[in-house]
Amino acid sequence: MGASKLDTHYSVRIQTMKNISKFQKKILGWYQAAKRDLPWRQTKDPYKILVSEIMLQQTQVDTVIPYYHRWLKRFPDFEKLAAAEEAEVLKHWQGLGYYRRAKMLHRNAQQVCAQHAGKLPQDAQTLLSLPGIGRYTAGAVGSIAFGLKVPLLDGNVIRILTRIFAISKNVADKNTLERLWKISKNILPNKNVGDFNQALMELGATVCFPRSPNCANCPVSDLCEGHLSGKAESYPVKSPAQKITKMNEHAFIFRDKENRLLVKKQKTGERWADLWTLPHFENLNEGLSNFKVKKNDLKKLRTDKHGFTRYQITLNTFTLGEPLKKIVKKSDYVWMTKKELSRSTFPAVYQKIIDGVMQHEH
Ligand code: SF4
Repeated sequence: MGASKLDTHYSVRIQTMKNISKFQKKILGWYQAAKRDLPWRQTKDPYKILVSEIMLQQTQVDTVIPYYHRWLKRFPDFEKLAAAEEAEVLKHWQGLGYYRRAKMLHRNAQQVCAQHAGKLPQDAQTLLSLPGIGRYTAGAVGSIAFGLKVPLLDGNVIRILTRIFAISKNVADKNTLERLWKISKNILPNKNVGDFNQALMELGATVCFPRSPNCANCPVSDLCEGHLSGKAESYPVKSPAQKITKMNEHAFIFRDKENRLLVKKQKTGERWADLWTLPHFENLNEGLSNFKVKKNDLKKLRTDKHGFTRYQITLNTFTLGEPLKKIVKKSDYVWMTKKELSRSTFPAVYQKIIDGVMQHEH
């Protein structure tokens, strides 16, 4: 091929089609030899690939593996997932966080069954119209499951491309992102697109680390502008990290006369919408007055730290030695038996507290 230009503005080493094809060969060869043996790499089933891709968003591979197996055992295909109750779907997601992903996957299955006879459509545009499928997921599922020539861009790929092409513009900027999407499309091979896309992500996960990239063992180091200029770690350029806000919250272990536990369903728009939590308040006095409880009657049970988006929360849990008599504002509070608690989905921190309380009951 001639010296047609890929991206004259940004690229230096990979300007020509010749170098693009060299890049493709190197990265595909490396992937075949070095790829990790992951469960979702042993299948071409679009449903399973979709499940893995959605679970892997914002979650580490090691965390995802047991969830992936458990999920597929209970929901082996779109039909089984579509027919399940949302409460059970959430229960199977419990601990993975970002529960919106589970809800969207559930809705996705319902739409795939209602409109596409239980099979994922095989074109990127229709994939994009389905719940839970954004540009990244359409690229991943389209290329890996169907071999479509569609790009993808995630944190790993952004890091690699900004380093290889020495892109020093802020990646939070929409124009920079569009430019990266364009590059990720232009460098796609005609064949093995799924492997190529996975190879980029794999390189980001196992070689091109955010700090101290392992350039000595990188298959494309001779084409990487960032590395060759000695500035690999200065890419990608990002906006300063959001400040972490620390806050205190107070949760209560309250029982009724039948020894059931008081829990609260989180409303739409609240943190953890549709999940259950213990009654909790930022302001301890507000909690005390809502349940007509005196501070002296409470016993401090434990303190847990957990994070939520940009908040670092210290959660102090108190218990009352006797059954609770009164709830002033009753909205969304429910008394649950042990069995009901085990079927309901709690964010990890609350599940940990409840498990601890239940253990002491034996
Ligand atoms: Fe990343 Fe280094 Fe490879 Fe460049 S040479 S892609 S910086 S690991």
